[in-house]
Amino acid sequence: MEENSEHLKVAIRVRPMLDIDKVQDSAVFLNDNTIQVSDSTHMTTSTYDRIFSSASSQQEVFEYAQSSVEGVARGFNCTILAYGQTGSGKTYTMFGAEWESNNPAPQIYYQNRIPRPVKKAQPLNRLKIGIIPTSILHLFEITKEKPLTIYCSFLQIYNEKIYDLLQNPNRDKPLPIREERDSGIFVENLAEYVVEKAEDCIFLLKQGDRNRVVRQTRFNHHSSRSHTIFQILIEGDKANKRGALKRAKMNLCDLAGSEKFDKEGIMVKDHIQEMNNINKSLTTLGKVISALSGNTAGHIPYRESKLTRLLQDSLAVNTRTILIATISPASVYIEETLNTLKFADRAK
Ligand code: ADP
Ligand code: MG
Repeated sequence: MEENSEHLKVAIRVRPMLDIDKVQDSAVFLNDNTIQVSDSTHMTTSTYDRIFSSASSQQEVFEYAQSSVEGVARGFNCTILAYGQTGSGKTYTMFGAEWESNNPAPQIYYQNRIPRPVKKAQPLNRLKIGIIPTSILHLFEITKEKPLTIYCSFLQIYNEKIYDLLQNPNRDKPLPIREERDSGIFVENLAEYVVEKAEDCIFLLKQGDRNRVVRQTRFNHHSSRSHTIFQILIEGDKANKRGALKRAKMNLCDLAGSEKFDKEGIMVKDHIQEMNNINKSLTTLGKVISALSGNTAGHIPYRESKLTRLLQDSLAVNTRTILIATISPASVYIEETLNTLKFADRAK
């Protein structure tokens, strides 16, 4: 049991009711570690390791992940995933709300295709930023005195193809996954930037995020149609004595929306294909996580999707995985909320 809670943790985060919820009728009720979802036709109750309510702070959510983030500096691969339907708070949890306002508008970048410097970046408000920027700040703080090199990369998986978010926002150069004995699983030709300061790392995070936003505004339907993974790789000084950290990586994933149907629009062929690919990768992720939690025995189907194949050496029993399933309290979303909880149940 202890071991299980160390290598795989699952939490639910309920976002507050918002103005965008036209009918503000709640179907989600919390009591300690128990969540009840009910309306006139449904009624389920389940228990989780941890439930974050609409009043929970970004800091509390980070603290839940903190020991796993620190584990990376000691050599444990770590994966943090936000899963849930579009609008439930995945990006808020991973990046943060402060993040949005801190992020310069993308249009100029798109027209010129020239990266421009972040407009006088304001200092990040640690109470508002999400898991990714907080983890970056924290990792740099705890490794300050150590002889380590930190690299980062930012990729997206769209329609079962991997693209570099920093180098190829236009998605015309899909990259293959490779595996080598020393370096484990990696994406060939994915840019790995050496980052010496947290600010450099955050600059790249913003740059990639901006590229992602560009896709969203230009092709509205691609909004969260891709999985994005921000990877931080830590490598020990090779000349260092035995026992020192060799290599560890952290994958911070904002997954594509898990909704089964596109409520907004007409389904054209491309969108159906997108959805099938998302469903396939999320279903495979569910199988892998279920296997890790010990619920299913035998073969773990990492190779059934790009997402799980890429995370294979960071989504295993000797690594740390945190799944944060985000849900909306609104009763109009009850079907999707129940689906998200069902997904999280597989990890228990
Ligand atoms: P997703 O990435 O799952 O599509 P977002 O993270 O973009 O969803 O969240 C949708 C909206 O809800 C955003 O405006 C976001 O700022 C807001 N939101 C999400 N979670 C919270 C929260 N815990 N507290 C306050 N606002 C939130
Ligand atoms: Mg999002």
